[in-house]
Amino acid sequence: MARRPAAPAAGPKRAPARPSRLSSRGFSRLVALGLVGFAVIVATAGDERRSEAADLGASIANEAPWTYPATLLGPGPGVLGMIMVLHRSYDAVIVGGGHNGLVSAAYLARAGRRVLVLERLGRTGGAAISAPAFPGVDARLSRYSYLVSLLPRKIVDDLGLRFDLRKRSVSSYTPTERRGRDTGLLVTRDAGRTRESFARLTGSEREFAAWQDFYGKAAHVAERVFPTLTAPLPTEDELRERVGDDRIWGMFFQQTLGETIEQTFTDDLVRGVVLTDGLIGTFTSAWAEDLRQNRCFLYHVIGGGTGDWDVPVGGMGALTDELARAAREAGAEILTGHEVTAIATDGQRAEVTYQHEQRTATVDAGHVLVNASPEALADLLGQERPEPAEGAQLKVNMLLKRLPRLRDTGVDPREAFAGTFHVTESFEQLEAAYAEAAAGRLPSQPPSEIYCHSLSDPSILGEALAREGYQTLTLFGLHTPARLFDGSGDEKARLLAATVAQLDRYLAEPLADCLATDGDGAPCMEAKTPVDLERDLRLPGGNIFHRDLSWPFRTDAATGRWGVETGHPNVLLCGAGAVRGGGVSGIPGHNAAMAVLEARPGVGPRT
Ligand SMILES: Cc1cc2nc3c(=O)[nH]c(=O)nc-3n(C[C@H](O)[C@H](O)[C@H](O)COP(=O)(O)OP(=O)(O)OC[C@H]3O[C@@H](n4cnc5c(N)ncnc54)[C@H](O)[C@@H]3O)c2cc1C
Repeated sequence: MARRPAAPAAGPKRAPARPSRLSSRGFSRLVALGLVGFAVIVATAGDERRSEAADLGASIANEAPWTYPATLLGPGPGVLGMIMVLHRSYDAVIVGGGHNGLVSAAYLARAGRRVLVLERLGRTGGAAISAPAFPGVDARLSRYSYLVSLLPRKIVDDLGLRFDLRKRSVSSYTPTERRGRDTGLLVTRDAGRTRESFARLTGSEREFAAWQDFYGKAAHVAERVFPTLTAPLPTEDELRERVGDDRIWGMFFQQTLGETIEQTFTDDLVRGVVLTDGLIGTFTSAWAEDLRQNRCFLYHVIGGGTGDWDVPVGGMGALTDELARAAREAGAEILTGHEVTAIATDGQRAEVTYQHEQRTATVDAGHVLVNASPEALADLLGQERPEPAEGAQLKVNMLLKRLPRLRDTGVDPREAFAGTFHVTESFEQLEAAYAEAAAGRLPSQPPSEIYCHSLSDPSILGEALAREGYQTLTLFGLHTPARLFDGSGDEKARLLAATVAQLDRYLAEPLADCLATDGDGAPCMEAKTPVDLERDLRLPGGNIFHRDLSWPFRTDAATGRWGVETGHPNVLLCGAGAVRGGGVSGIPGHNAAMAVLEARPGVGPRT
């Protein structure tokens, strides 16, 4: 069942609209800025530092300082979106308008804080967006992230987001060949069908029983751990006590995922399907002693207390658009095309320097919330960078004229592609691909997983494409670390060809025959390596989580109350790089906002 956002009942009260605050300060004049054709009200006088609005205003009319109310410029990111910083001083300046930065902005603005979001790109959303990826094609794909699991219902309700998720009827399908016959493992919401599929593949009831038991234990952890992610960070002992079962704790938190899987399952393909959740965006082995595969696995099975990965209706951009709307309606100012270049702080107040169209300006902030990566944060503060993060995935977006037929005739492609379609992801294949990449070569048989959004939600396709049966495909390849790409494009082309060849092994017709073409006649296929992601999105090393995922409890490296703290009391991380960040969750955005509200509870809603 799709989650339906409820009315904005819970959570902080909405702040009154901004104009009353501005008018209470008294606007001195209304001036028409002919160049951009909008109205400007001159407010404030006497601030010492110059804002960007002041600079531009002065250059146009030789008068300063200038500010104007957001409401005059319209609510949305369209033609009349905000283009200049309105004030010299903010309660919170947020560096980056990714979905987490927007969550922080919405919470803080609803609590009456004066909030400014500065985003370097020409749009908000970071890696959570929908975009027309192919020229002349009426389809808005979730260009980067594509499924939602970790977004707490609480955030949707608190912020009054009008955003729907749709459940997938099929969890996964994994094609394979057994005894010379094309077959596969189908995991659906129907336990009877899933049992049959396990029995047909493995020849016994054992593996399905193990599967049920294993995911029952994962659900036990999920129900207990997920609600803690939006509360102050527990200690390890507190979380362990909450889980309340030392055997289960040991399986997921102490021994390597490889050991747990080996002790639980016997079939190599079943083992691989389980292991993949420990490897998404995480370059490691099932046996790694640092347990980063366990941490990655944990975040992939606890979302919503169920571990379900749901389809964002309208694509991932629908979430970001709603977050931006919620933040703006609460009074936050969101500026795109504004890159923050430095943060200076004395622990009480901070000065944020940013660039916009070759102009440099500063703004004053009580708190600075950084949605950019921990590496970027270090650069902004002029501090030493943390250990570099590295991404290791290939993302491919496709539009098809039709879904390809499968060699395994026992399953309809509309079912197989509705869930996660695993390719070359048996346990041994995954380990072999890791070993090759760790030795400095791109995997010769690259593992990947594929999913068709439009089967669950055709609304991302234009009417004509939907009517004619076009479908989108998203492919997420594993074990392709950034260090293996030199930027020439050759490795990318080779990797893409090898990845498609793996998929073709299980198709009754080549994928290429099914690809749609764009307005220029080129196949609708867009591939992004970690290097591309670093360039496009500033993901450090292309790491989709900004850095390795963390345990959801206090550790030596994470000692703060909310897991968002830095060495400076008024500078916080509010993005994926915070403890309990990573993925489309809004959790670090929520937690950073809570940390601000706790630190400065006295600042009430502005009137
Ligand atoms: C290919 C891919 C597939 C993924 N699939 C999924 C998925 O299906 N489900 C899921 O849950 N997660 C997925 N993820 C991970 C998820 O998208 C990210 O972890 C999440 O979007 C991080 O959100 P964020 O807001 O913290 O950071 P980001 O989305 O990285 O946003 C940070 C923002 O800060 C801006 N910024 C950076 N530096 C500055 C600066 N100096 N000044 C101003 N602005 C700045 C950036 O431009 C960006 O907009 C995927 C990621 C990728 C790349």
